[in-house]
Amino acid sequence: MSRVLFINGPAEGHINPTLGVVSELIRQGEEVVYFTTEQFRTRIEKTGAIVRTYDDSAFMSAFLAGNTNHILDKVTGLLRTSDVIVPSVIEQTKGDEFDYIIHDSMFGCGRLLAQMLHLPAVNSCTSFAQTKQSFDFILNSVSRQSPASINTQVESEFEQMLATVNAKYGVDLESAYDVFCNPAPLSIVYTTRQFQPHGESFDDTYKFVGPSISERGSQDKWDLDLENKQVIYISLGTVIRDVMDFYKICFEALGDTEYTVVASVGRHTDISDLGNIPPNFIVRNYVPQTEVLRQTQVFITHGGMNSTSEGLFYGVPLIVIPHDKDQPFIARRVAELGAGIQLQKDNLSANELRKAVDEVVKNQDFRKVVSEMSKSFQQAGGYHQAVREIFAFKHKTGIQ
Ligand code: UDP
Repeated sequence: MSRVLFINGPAEGHINPTLGVVSELIRQGEEVVYFTTEQFRTRIEKTGAIVRTYDDSAFMSAFLAGNTNHILDKVTGLLRTSDVIVPSVIEQTKGDEFDYIIHDSMFGCGRLLAQMLHLPAVNSCTSFAQTKQSFDFILNSVSRQSPASINTQVESEFEQMLATVNAKYGVDLESAYDVFCNPAPLSIVYTTRQFQPHGESFDDTYKFVGPSISERGSQDKWDLDLENKQVIYISLGTVIRDVMDFYKICFEALGDTEYTVVASVGRHTDISDLGNIPPNFIVRNYVPQTEVLRQTQVFITHGGMNSTSEGLFYGVPLIVIPHDKDQPFIARRVAELGAGIQLQKDNLSANELRKAVDEVVKNQDFRKVVSEMSKSFQQAGGYHQAVREIFAFKHKTGIQ
């Protein structure tokens, strides 16, 4: 039995794939202390982990303190969160001993904590993995499109913050890649090597285990029977907000059609603000997505990594309308592999959306590709494979 320190951020997409991993680790005798924010306590406690929390609003203010959209500003934001996370972890683990750490690939200052606590580290990567080369390529292309004055500002803020954090915590984070991607001796990536762009460029320390889909223990009830219906499912994930116009386009495109449309509009949307909802729509703030996907013909998604993986896992072709972050990369990959259609959010029309839905429903090529992908996603092993890889790593590293 080992004691595991698990560090994650306050984001559903980063937490969900870890739930199965943690349950399985505990089932096999590990003890897991899991750090996140209060919002996720119940969900994580159901896995059997001991949950400890840090301050959500302090974390978000630190992360979002930058005033530009430049990715380097987000990297500096992640460095700022160290002053929320590190003292909290140190304080709440006084006297505790851990054998290894599992940390999110982005949130939670995992690489910093692994160095500080001298722990062997496992990286839990809920989006596409990045090599230093691919990450620097993204960084450079963002910089090429930004005004020189912004580049100078964000670069100098980043360098200063990096030096401050390294000195304060006695660690050696070398680059934006170290901060944003938290490389570790073992990386668990919740997709397949085939779906990962340039999958062949990752060495054997990256284990592509496929989507990690497990019981969520969600409180939300789902008692609607969708059997024998042509179901279109719409969700832009849990983070995007203020997209009323998009939902209205969906009403116009798919209202009064033969489809039954389930729309999860997010907890930030007041459903009464949506006006007249067509009778063939079922609109909720949140749905048990993996349940709904089992009965869905087409999934209209923002292209979050989890939503995309879950859709493909259940063999559902996608219409991807990316908004930000990694979504454009994921949307491109879906379209490139023939698993769905990519649409642009700007100037999206009801007509265009309706046509795309009809095309995906009718054209069997999408279904064929997705059915193959579904098979390979299911065969990859998910959280069971993740735990096998973690135990192989423990064995190799000499952890008892
Ligand atoms: N989700 C859900 N019900 C909803 C909306 C989202 O269960 O009504 C879950 C979904 O299954 C996925 C996660 O929330 O696991 C969203 O993650 P994703 O990476 O797709 O998007 P994000 O919310 O991070 O933008």
